[in-house]
Amino acid sequence: MREKSYISDNLSLVEQAIHDACDAVGRRREEITLTAVTKTVEPSIINEAIACGVTHIGENRVQEFLAKKPFLNLDGVQTHLIGHLQTNKVRQIVGEVSMIQSVDSLRLAQMISDRAKSNDMTVPVLVEVNIGGEEQKSGVASTDVEELMYQLSPLSGIQVRGLMTVAPILHSEAEKRALFSKMYQLFIDIRAKNIDNILMQDLSMGMSGDYREAIMEGATIIRVGSAIFGKRQY
Ligand SMILES: *Cc1c(COP(=O)(O)O)cnc(C)c1O
Repeated sequence: MREKSYISDNLSLVEQAIHDACDAVGRRREEITLTAVTKTVEPSIINEAIACGVTHIGENRVQEFLAKKPFLNLDGVQTHLIGHLQTNKVRQIVGEVSMIQSVDSLRLAQMISDRAKSNDMTVPVLVEVNIGGEEQKSGVASTDVEELMYQLSPLSGIQVRGLMTVAPILHSEAEKRALFSKMYQLFIDIRAKNIDNILMQDLSMGMSGDYREAIMEGATIIRVGSAIFGKRQY
């Protein structure tokens, strides 16, 4: 049996680190949304995190999330899909989460939009960017993001709220910050275009190993899993 209180201890540590990163660059804590990443975590533990004040959770896989959802105390909690979404799962997930952070193609966006329209809803989404240009990673190349935004603009079943990225594993603080800074530049460049239906208010970047650097470079959403729940057991 794991000690129950480790979740609240870990959350306090993460909270402190968020505050410190904000202080380092003169940002306010309220500018940052902590999304607790609950993939592989069982419902009772997720509920404990929620009882400790977690208000946003992120899950990677549609199947896993839908299986756990009936057991979660989601009152006042927002749910985000953060993992790669296959087009054949769109039908199941639209209407089940507050936001889809991982839109990485026009086709996927069109399918989400169509499904949302037939449910009479608008789905908030982020566009996932492969900022590190890594070969096997999902996400749109940074050079293609602007063009994609113009293509997403007319889709009335989605509302693009910003960008998301999973950074490559880098070891120095300087390298991490340089990459997140590149992402922030892209974010504000696109925001400056004022594209219809493309809001650019959220920048989701930073995980357990790099959320401090992400905050220092302008993240508004961080996605933290193992620093809260411990090492994942698959
Ligand atoms: C697993 C995952 C995270 C959290 O990773 P940790 O290193 O455990 O904090 C964040 N974002 C995405 C997309 C993930 O898949």
